[in-house]
Amino acid sequence: MLRLDDVFVADILKGRTAIVTGGGSGLGLIIAQSLYKYGCDVHIVGRDLAKLENAKQQTIGSRGGFHIHQCDVRDYDGVAAVVQKVLDLSATLDILVNNAAGNFLCDFESLSKNGWHSVIDIDLNGTFNFCKHALDGLKKSQWGGRIINLATTQAYFGWPQAAHAASAKSAICTLTKSLAVELGGHGIRINNLHPGPIAGTEGVRRMYGDSPNAAGALTCLGEMGHASDISNMAVYLCSPAGSFITGADLVVDGGRWLKRGGPEK
Ligand code: NAP
Repeated sequence: MLRLDDVFVADILKGRTAIVTGGGSGLGLIIAQSLYKYGCDVHIVGRDLAKLENAKQQTIGSRGGFHIHQCDVRDYDGVAAVVQKVLDLSATLDILVNNAAGNFLCDFESLSKNGWHSVIDIDLNGTFNFCKHALDGLKKSQWGGRIINLATTQAYFGWPQAAHAASAKSAICTLTKSLAVELGGHGIRINNLHPGPIAGTEGVRRMYGDSPNAAGALTCLGEMGHASDISNMAVYLCSPAGSFITGADLVVDGGRWLKRGGPEK
């Protein structure tokens, strides 16, 4: 089936500034590139400077406005410094995409304290750190601040061999809903975006190894999604079309969550 890349009008996000955590690779990079393409100043965050520089080189155009920040999302003070740098460089902050995540499959019995803490720290506490420090900037956004938290519908059911990630994502979903209620008065819209199996991603490779097509077979549509399916939803949520959406779970998974019964991985 034909998938159109240009589904929004050019410059629909012109003038906005966005932070994308984990924006140096995977879905985070595709989301960052889409926000940039539609007019945002974009700031990507990750731990690996070479990866961030490579992402910048692949993306930046003549207008500039694509920035990189080396930072671990677990570092509360480091995150504060990144947000300050974003405001110094771009003056405003309108969009925050909490995408950075860590995961590995591991039976609960073998899961170490360090393994548990590291996933909770990256996914949940990293999301907290950025929401907390970005808040003042987002409150001032002339378009109404937008926060998108990357989750997964596995958080609805529990996720064998990923109790750490399921717990973190589930908590993120509840954080989103709590903040939607608390921050709506400041014009901030905050939503969960739940990708299903997306072709070519680390998430699918980690879970399905050498047989990624098996992931597609588990969706109602019988195929894996494309990274642009996720980035288009992110652009939609940040655009004027997303103005009346907050506290929602946007599931972009080809119906995977309805079609249980396959491997619960
Ligand atoms: P990925 O390829 O593993 O990318 C994760 C990104 O986060 C990397 O750029 C990584 O860069 C960064 N990161 C990890 N730990 C970090 C830390 N402590 N501080 C800063 N950055 C950190 O993941 P993905 O498959 O693209 O998935 C992206 C998001 O979608 C995740 O939240 C994931 O849970 C969710 N999701 C994905 C799928 C899928 O099919 N792929 C399905 C459901 C949900 P560095 O390691 O260089 O820092």
